[in-house]
Amino acid sequence: MPIYEYACAPCGKTFEELVIRRSDEVEVRCPGCGSADVARRMSRPAAARASGGGSVPPRGCGPVG
Ligand SMILES: [Zn+2]
Repeated sequence: MPIYEYACAPCGKTFEELVIRRSDEVEVRCPGCGSADVARRMSRPAAARASGGGSVPPRGCGPVG
């Protein structure tokens, strides 16, 4: 499931939101101030890529299926 990173405009808080369906994007609100004025940011493509090429297991996700 895609996890998008959002940045709140009013308070500048950044948070990640699990988007299951596209329609859920409009329901994303800042957990800090509750404002819906948030900007979606591109998820970082595994920035922590150590030189040498070592595949790391994904972070603990919930049970799929
Ligand atoms: Zn906020």
